[in-house]
Amino acid sequence: MQNQQYENAKAQLSRVNQYLNLDEQTLSRLMVPDRFVEVNFPVVMENGGVKVFRGFRSQHNNALGPYKGGLRFSPEVSEEEVKALSMWMTWKCAVVDIPFGGGKGGVIVDTKALTEGELERLSKAFAARIADLIGENKDVPAPDMYTNGQIMAWMLEEYQKVTGLKSNAVFTDKPVEMGGSEGRTEATGQGGVFVLEELSKMEGLEPSRTRVAVQGIGNVGYYFAKLVREMGFKIVAISDSRGGIYSEEGIDVEEALAYKETNGSLQGYQKAKEISNEELLELEVEVLVPAAVENVIMEGNAEKIKAKYIIEMANGPVDPRADLILFKRGIRSVPDVLANAGGVTVSYFEWYQNMHQENWSKEEVTDKLRPIMGQAFKSVWEIAKEHQVDLRMGAYILAVKRVVEKLVSGC
Ligand code: GLU
Repeated sequence: MQNQQYENAKAQLSRVNQYLNLDEQTLSRLMVPDRFVEVNFPVVMENGGVKVFRGFRSQHNNALGPYKGGLRFSPEVSEEEVKALSMWMTWKCAVVDIPFGGGKGGVIVDTKALTEGELERLSKAFAARIADLIGENKDVPAPDMYTNGQIMAWMLEEYQKVTGLKSNAVFTDKPVEMGGSEGRTEATGQGGVFVLEELSKMEGLEPSRTRVAVQGIGNVGYYFAKLVREMGFKIVAISDSRGGIYSEEGIDVEEALAYKETNGSLQGYQKAKEISNEELLELEVEVLVPAAVENVIMEGNAEKIKAKYIIEMANGPVDPRADLILFKRGIRSVPDVLANAGGVTVSYFEWYQNMHQENWSKEEVTDKLRPIMGQAFKSVWEIAKEHQVDLRMGAYILAVKRVVEKLVSGC
């Protein structure tokens, strides 16, 4: 199923071409990454043995600025997945109009099976292998699934060691004391909240009467759920990879997460009923928020979705066939390249602060993020209305056009 993503990404690009009529050369150029690199590197394990790990970096397009995008550590990482995700980063940066292109990378590894020392050595070894590909004006990685600020800190340390360069702008979402930006950790969730705010204005959604189900309570899903609840929306369901919980009265997200931290999972939480991840997707709610993994809404279950709106906080949670079914059924899905773009937008703020030796407060970051998300949402909504297409196609029309204009003028 994982290898499906690159096919999905290419299918989406083919679909948008019905509205853009790009020449064959431009289209085929955008179907593939500018550069794709595989690295294999040894890591000394705790038992003294050496294990070889495989990693990738895909640089899709840099017409708008340096390649930008996360590095994920997961057993599911593959060449195809990384290529798809790098293409999505190109569109994501273009939708929010920040001066970055698209990149993505990853290592095939189950981080749960590593000790802290092994994780540090693996992160540093990978950073050393990709050091000549990346740089503050070349390619700027960030965290993604199963990576975090600590891992960026290790990588930055190693990058500076092997290149002799002092800049810290080459990685984003670093710890604040290493040049990270205030507000970056919650940025993706916060950006999604601004999207929900705009959607609510547009469609007249009243927070107290709007039920929200969030699949995945990792960094992105957690901040989204927490902030949305503070605004008065009702979070009726949340889940982690093992399953979910549901309560018509609403869930106290922080209490449920504290329970998960003590007990290892949400299962057994007394104030809500246990449900499966599949059931969560099919709940009768106003807003459904897939914030976990790819391809959870597909041809097989798109007919069963009862939500009126979907906010895609994960990358690639809805596949192209499901897009058509949802659109026909009048369900509006705010695409990933718009809904979760708050993360990379604040990564841009961090990069900018590093490049200009500035330090913005969390309030400044939030105040600058809101209009960017708001403007992107309104533009996408208008284009979708004008062309009578779903919001993903609206976002793609906007993004691909922006990239192609630069490609044509800059080549
Ligand atoms: N990994 C995040 C994403 O998929 C953030 C990327 C970044 O900040 O560069 O959007």
